[in-house]
This record gives sequence, C-alpha cells and structure tokens, in this order.
Amino acid sequence: MPVGAGAPVVPTRRAVFVDRDGTLNPDLHYLKDPSRLEVNRGVGEALRLARAHGYLVICVTNQSGIERGYYTADDVERIHRRLNELLAPEGARVDAFYYCPHAPERGCACRKPGTQLFEDAGRDWGIDFATSAVVGDRALDVEAGRRIGLLTCLVRPRGHEAEIDREIAASTAAPDIRADSFGAAVYRVLARG
Ligand SMILES: [Mg+2]
Ligand SMILES: [Zn+2]
Repeated sequence: MPVGAGAPVVPTRRAVFVDRDGTLNPDLHYLKDPSRLEVNRGVGEALRLARAHGYLVICVTNQSGIERGYYTADDVERIHRRLNELLAPEGARVDAFYYCPHAPERGCACRKPGTQLFEDAGRDWGIDFATSAVVGDRALDVEAGRRIGLLTCLVRPRGHEAEIDREIAASTAAPDIRADSFGAAVYRVLARG
C-alpha cells in the first residue's frame, strides 16, 4: 500500500445538486454568450442559505451544444464563471459544475438521466447521497436523482407547467417534492434537517 493511503473515506457531506438551464437561469437554448446570462429570482438567496446550512452546491448539466458544435467547452466554462460572478454579490456560489458534452444519440453514461456525473461529484467531494437532494425542472433531473437515491425536487419553469406535467406523467419519475419556486424547493430540503 502506498505511503499515505488510508482507509476509504466514508462519504459524509451533504449536497444540493442543481440543474442549470431552466433551474438556476432561464433556459435560453444553447446559450453561448455569458453577457446574456441571468439568474432566476430567489436562486442567490436560496444557494446562500443552503451553503450556510453546510450543503455543497453542485451543478450537473447536459450541454449537448458542445458535441453539436453550437459552442465549445470553453464557452460553457465561461458561462459557469459568469454564473458565480452573478451570485457573488448575494453571498452565494456553486461549488462545482459537472457537464455532459454529448449529444443524446451517443448514449453516454453522463447525460442525465444518466448518473455518471453525480457519481463523479460524489467521489470528488465525499457526498452522502442519502442526505442530499436534487432540484431540477425536467423529468430527467428527477429520474437521475431517483436512480442515485437523492431527495428529488421539481420546480416547473413558468409558462411550461403543462409541458413538464406531461413529461413527468409519461416517465417513471415522480418527484418527492414539487415546489413553486427554486427557493421554496431549497427550503423544503433544508427543513428535512
Ligand atoms: Mg433544465
Ligand atoms: Zn455525456
């Protein structure tokens, strides 16, 4: 055994996994330009509170626009830096971003509802999924969360309620919590203790 190698670390940290487009920010469809990015109302305050309660904030996002050639991995990383710049004045941040760059046809393990990125984050940060949660706006967020044992929260974007309800009804992914806003979802997660 190499020097310094100890027993496997027991995952103990709690996290709120958050979707990006439609959840943290309005879904502008293949957004490339960071200057167009906006944060949804109440997101900064909720993330600040989650972190104050000891939760990591981990963003997991499908970015098929990379493989489709609409933007590059660098563009995506610029968006993520901008998101944290916008959150900073509210005392909030996303601790880490994990993104899938693949088109759905590839059938990769990292595109939600695949759980690869959640597993990667869990390993990188020592996260206990049983005491963690996911907040997203689509059935695939809920499905990924269920597969890996997270508390699942659905926040439907305004104007897309009926579409999302149809999507959820057609899937096997009933969320544990349905909330009217991102903030309300996070408060429900924190109230679980
Ligand atoms: Mg989304
Ligand atoms: Zn992928």
